[in-house]
Amino acid sequence: MGDFLTFDELMNWNAVAGRFAPPARLAVIGDPIAHSRSPQMHNPALRACGIDAQYVRVQVPQGRVAEAFRQFARCGFLGVNITIPHKFEALDAVDVLDPLARQLGAVNTLAIRDGRLHGYNSDGPGFLRSVKEAFGVEVKDLRVLILGAGGGAGRAVAVQSALVGCRSITLANRTLDKALAVMREIREIGNVPLVGVVEMDDAHLAYQMSGCDLVVNATSLGMKSADTKLLPADSIEARHLVFDMVYRADGETPLLADARLAGAKTVDGLTLLLHQGAISFEHWFDRPAPLEVMREGLRNA
Ligand code: NAP
Repeated sequence: MGDFLTFDELMNWNAVAGRFAPPARLAVIGDPIAHSRSPQMHNPALRACGIDAQYVRVQVPQGRVAEAFRQFARCGFLGVNITIPHKFEALDAVDVLDPLARQLGAVNTLAIRDGRLHGYNSDGPGFLRSVKEAFGVEVKDLRVLILGAGGGAGRAVAVQSALVGCRSITLANRTLDKALAVMREIREIGNVPLVGVVEMDDAHLAYQMSGCDLVVNATSLGMKSADTKLLPADSIEARHLVFDMVYRADGETPLLADARLAGAKTVDGLTLLLHQGAISFEHWFDRPAPLEVMREGLRNA
């Protein structure tokens, strides 16, 4: 667990600002936040680029995101990352909302320019870059199955896949109504020839696996070894591409372990964390992010 600042400390910035050299100019907010690995990739990147700034964690309670954003702006911050549970609250707390963030329904990156709050989403584009890097293919050429498609991350992946016009999308979610709402949004985008919704049970998922190329876990299951299996293990074939958005501090998720045994190609949530972080950096500094420095920082975290 890492150090973090409390909301009260943020609101009394003059009392804490002196603790930071280089000065704190970037932050990640969430609740909880101590587990976030974002500082371990952004601080080496800032050093490597000779930027005199430091990236810190701040715990912000629900309902206080707008206040926190204004305070960051007053205190001279350049940008903020937003994680669970604040990505939706952040949508309404910015002055200028990027059209992609609006479409994906969440803001995970704030850039502060001349006191104005600009909101972006780097999770969706980060997902596209992760697939390209890990599997050497474009999402547009794939048939995609999303587990947890009704959650925030699943919806963003589904809508992003639809925006690039992938070959088909199957949306699986424990609460079916949420997946149906995402299906309606995707049909409105109109880029994907086949869009369907499926129950999260073994029989339905095994059938859907036979007709998909890329399967994405966007549920919150997989952080613990004891978590229920998401897919019947024998439904994963060597030709599958398996993307687990979840990452664990102590090794593979159960889904990735099954996928590896089946000979499938895999990518984990740390790769997504890396690419969304690199895109945030690009929004803040209008320059390419030092990706390998960031990757190394995460590896050492
Ligand atoms: P969220 O909005 O709370 O969604 C949670 C999803 O998990 C929902 O689809 C929910 O289904 C499903 N779920 C929860 N418990 C379940 C269970 N017992 N059985 C089946 N489904 C279950 O959370 P989120 O923001 O989308 O995040 C989801 C996961 O993605 C988290 O683990 C998060 O850390 C990870 N993530 C990683 C990155 C990264 O950079 N690597 C980025 C974003 C998110 P219901 O709709 O039925 O509740």
